[in-house]
Amino acid sequence: MCPSNNAIDVKGPESPLTRVAVGLPLPMAGVYDYLVPSDISVKPGDLVTVPFGPRKLTGVVWSFRDLDVDDLPLDKLKYIDCQLDCSALDPAILKFVEWVAAYTLSPQGVILRMVLSVPDATEAPKQKLDYALASSFSWEAADLRKTAAREAVVALMTEQRQLPQKDIERRAGVGASVVKSLVKAGALEAKLRPITKAFHWPSPDLSGPTLAPEQDTAAGKLVSSVEDNKFSVTVLDGVTGSGKTEVYFEAIAAALKQGRQVMVLLPEIALTSQWLDRFKQRFGVMPAEWHSDLNGRERRQCWRAVISGEVAVLVGARSALFLPFPKLGLIIIDEEHDQAFKQEDGVRYHARDMSVVRAKQSKCPLILSSATPSMESLNNVNHGRYIRVILPRRFAGAKPPKIIPLDLKIDVPDRGAWLAPSLVEAIKEATERGEQSLLFLNRRGYAPLTLCRSCGHRLECPSCSAWLVEHRLLKKLQCHHCGYGLPLPEACPKCEEKQSLVPCGPGVERVAEEVSLRFPEARAMVVSSDTVRGPVAAAEFVSIVERKEVDILIGTQLISKGYHFPHLTVVGVVDADLGLFGGDFRASERSFQLLQQVAGRAGRDLEHPGKVFLQTHDPNHPVMCALAANDRDAFYAAEAKERAEAKMPPFGRMAALILSDTKESSVDEACARLARDAPNGKGLQVWGPAPAPITLLRGRYRRRFLIQADLDNRLQPILFKWLSAVKLPSSVRLSVDIDPYNFL
Ligand code: ADP
Ligand code: ZN
Repeated sequence: MCPSNNAIDVKGPESPLTRVAVGLPLPMAGVYDYLVPSDISVKPGDLVTVPFGPRKLTGVVWSFRDLDVDDLPLDKLKYIDCQLDCSALDPAILKFVEWVAAYTLSPQGVILRMVLSVPDATEAPKQKLDYALASSFSWEAADLRKTAAREAVVALMTEQRQLPQKDIERRAGVGASVVKSLVKAGALEAKLRPITKAFHWPSPDLSGPTLAPEQDTAAGKLVSSVEDNKFSVTVLDGVTGSGKTEVYFEAIAAALKQGRQVMVLLPEIALTSQWLDRFKQRFGVMPAEWHSDLNGRERRQCWRAVISGEVAVLVGARSALFLPFPKLGLIIIDEEHDQAFKQEDGVRYHARDMSVVRAKQSKCPLILSSATPSMESLNNVNHGRYIRVILPRRFAGAKPPKIIPLDLKIDVPDRGAWLAPSLVEAIKEATERGEQSLLFLNRRGYAPLTLCRSCGHRLECPSCSAWLVEHRLLKKLQCHHCGYGLPLPEACPKCEEKQSLVPCGPGVERVAEEVSLRFPEARAMVVSSDTVRGPVAAAEFVSIVERKEVDILIGTQLISKGYHFPHLTVVGVVDADLGLFGGDFRASERSFQLLQQVAGRAGRDLEHPGKVFLQTHDPNHPVMCALAANDRDAFYAAEAKERAEAKMPPFGRMAALILSDTKESSVDEACARLARDAPNGKGLQVWGPAPAPITLLRGRYRRRFLIQADLDNRLQPILFKWLSAVKLPSSVRLSVDIDPYNFL
C-alpha cells in the first residue's frame, strides 16, 4: 500500500528534486510529469502509483526530465505516491509501446494499457497464513481446558509442520471456534504460507526425437540465430508435416540454456492440446499459457511470473506480444500467415509485424514458421531482410497428399446434396479401410440464408447488413456479426405464409446431415466454434480423433490449423471457391493458404497416404491449378507480379479509415468533411468514402476510405496531418487500420 503524500511541497533550490515523465494507461497521447519524493529512487520502467485528478493510477516511469523544462512549472507538479512492489518494465518495452503507438496512430496510453493488461498484477499478492503448533506448547503449560476436539487438533498438528485453517478444521473434524481458541491460547501460531511456484523452468537437456538430416540442418541454423544473441528474422518454411515444431523446439532449448525467455504465438490458442503435449514431452513441464480463457487469478499469476522472469516459455494468442518479458531470448510465430494474428478491433495491429519490432527492440531472434508463408514474409526473404530455412519434405518419408480438383459441372452432386459422387466414393472407401475423412466447409450452422418461397423475403439481421444463419442444432436463426438471434419462425415474417421458409446453401450442420444419410453406420462429428468451445472441449475433440472414435469430421477453419492426425487420409473441400471472391486483393493468397493447410491434414503418416478433393466450379482458377500441381512457387510468383504492378502490399502501402455512426446522415457528413481535406500527392491515392460492404454493423452505419501509397511514402505522417485537421462530431467513431487485412 502506498502511504499518502500529496501536499505539494516544492523545496528550495538546494534540495535534490527529481522530475520524471510517467506513462499512464489512459487514452491519451503523452506522458505526465511528476516529482519524485526524496525517500524513493526510481528509474525508467519502474511501476509507480500517481495521483491523477481525484484518482490514483498505476503508471510507468518513462524518462528523467530536466527540472526546469518550461511546459509546466514545478509548483504545479504533484509527487509520485509510491513505487509498486513489482519488477520494472524492460526499457525495450517502453520503446515498443512508443513504436506501436506511432505506427498504428494510437494514443501511447492505449498501447501501454495493453502492456498493463492485468492492473492488479502490479501489486504483490498477499501472502496467506497457515497455523503451526507452537514449539513451546504443552497441555500443562497452556491455560486451556482439554477437550476431545482440541486434542484432535493438537494430535494432527504434532504430525504436520503447518496447515491452512480450513485444512485443520477438515482433517481434525472440528469447527472454526476450536481452532480459534487454540490460537488465542497461543497453542497454534500463525506462519506465512510458503509460495508454491506455479511455473517451472523447462529442461533444455532432455533428449528430443532424433532429427532427420534435413531437420537437423534447419535446427542448427535456428540454434545459431539464438546463440548469436542479436536481432534476426528467420522464415521456417516447411511443408505440412515436415516437423517444423520439433525443429523450432531446438531453438527454444538453446534460448533456455542461455536462461532467456521464449514467447510462442499460435493463431488458435484454444486448440493447442497437441502442441502442449509435445512441449511437455520435449521439456518435461508445461509452458505458461496466455489466452482469453484464463480467469483473473491465472492472468495475474502469469503476468507477474512473466515480468519477474519466472516464466521461461509462454505460448499465447496475439495479445501475449504485449506481455512484459524482461529477458526475451526468442519469439516464434507459428502459422505466421494466419490472419488470426491481425487484431480487428480497438488498436488494429498485426501481431506478426509487431513481433518483428518487439524482437528488434529486445535484440533477439524471431522465427516465422509456416508451410504457406505470407507474401509479406517471402518478399522480405527476397530482399535479403529475412533468412529462409527450408524443410522440403514430410517427416519419415510421408508423401504430400494428392490434390484433385473436382469440377462440379461434371461431377455433379445429387439434387439437394453437396458432395460430388467421386468424393462420396473416396469417403466410403476410406471408412471401409478404417481410415478417417475430413469435410471442410468454412461456414458455421446449417444454412447461410433463409428465404421465403412464397414472397422471396430474405431473413436479415435488424442491426447488421447480414443474413441470418440457421443453426438447426440450436433451432435458431443467428447473426454472426452481432450475436442477434431468434427462434426459427413458423411463417414468413413478411407475407405470413406458413411453412414457406427454405434454407439456402450449406453450412457444416447441413453437410453433416448429408453424411448421416449417406453413411448411417459411420461416426460423424461437427467441429466448429459452436461445437468445440474452449481448450477443454478442443483437447477432448483431439483425443476422440486420435483414439479413432470418429470416422468423418465436418469442420470449419477451426480444423485446418496444425493438427496431426495420422489416420486421416481423405479431405474433401466442400466449396473451394468460397474464399476467392469479394474484391479483397489477398483473396487468392488466402484461399491458397487455407486450402493448402486443410489439404495438409491428409496423409501425414507414411502408411496412410492422403487424397484431397477440391469441389470447385472453376477448376482452371490459378489457385486450383497451383494446388493440384503442388506448385506453390509459381503461384506466389504470379501473384507477386500482379500485386507489384498494382502497387498492392507488400509492394505498396495501404491504410483504411472506417467511420461509423448510428445516424446515417451524420456519418456521411463526417465523410464529406474528411473527403474535402483528403491528402493528395505523387504516389498517393485516396479512394472513398464508400459504404463498407457490411454497411450496417451492430446498428452503426459504416463508411470506408482506402489510402494507397508507394513504398517510399510513409502513410502515418500523412494520415496524422489529415486527421488532426478535421474535427469530427463525437458520435462518429473513426478507426484507423494501417495495413488492413479485412475490407468488410
Ligand atoms: P509441421 O508443423 O511441419 O506440419 P509437425 O511438427 O506437426 O509438422 O510434425 C509432424 C509429425 O511428425 C508430428 O507428429 C511430429 O511429432 C513428428 N515428427 C517430426 N519430426 C520428427 C522426428 N525427428 N522424430 C520423430 N517424430 C517427428
Ligand atoms: Zn447483426
